[in-house]
Amino acid sequence: MVPGRKALRLSSIGYPSVWPPKGRMQAECMRKRCSTAPGDGCNCGIHALAVVHDVLNAVPLALWPPLVVGRVALWGRVVPGTRGWRAQFAYPSSLMVVERWPWRCKRLPQLESAYGVSATAVRWRDVASVELETQADVGLPLV
Ligand SMILES: [Zn+2]
Repeated sequence: MVPGRKALRLSSIGYPSVWPPKGRMQAECMRKRCSTAPGDGCNCGIHALAVVHDVLNAVPLALWPPLVVGRVALWGRVVPGTRGWRAQFAYPSSLMVVERWPWRCKRLPQLESAYGVSATAVRWRDVASVELETQADVGLPLV
């Protein structure tokens, strides 16, 4: 949580973008080179990694726990990559909070209410072995 903020919000692991609750996330080209993100020959777009292990490797240890991983719906322009996708639009379809002590996690109701999707908690040392249902998964740290 960001100090001073009353509600939990999800943010990108790479940029200071906050995922809007109950509204689509829309990609923008930070370099202002592409009229529509994700652009060809650029790295812009909403990045979704296919494998949880890649998400964990992409997140600096200082950011987690807490960390949220989950499934996302991607639409609009979607560009496949070697380890996932870059998309124009995205919205979480389910969330999993990675905690040291998941049984103590009090964030689940707040996340479910804010984003309107189911949220579960998992121990941080077990998350790499969690099998997610589809290939569209992304890491989302809490802010
Ligand atoms: Zn771009």
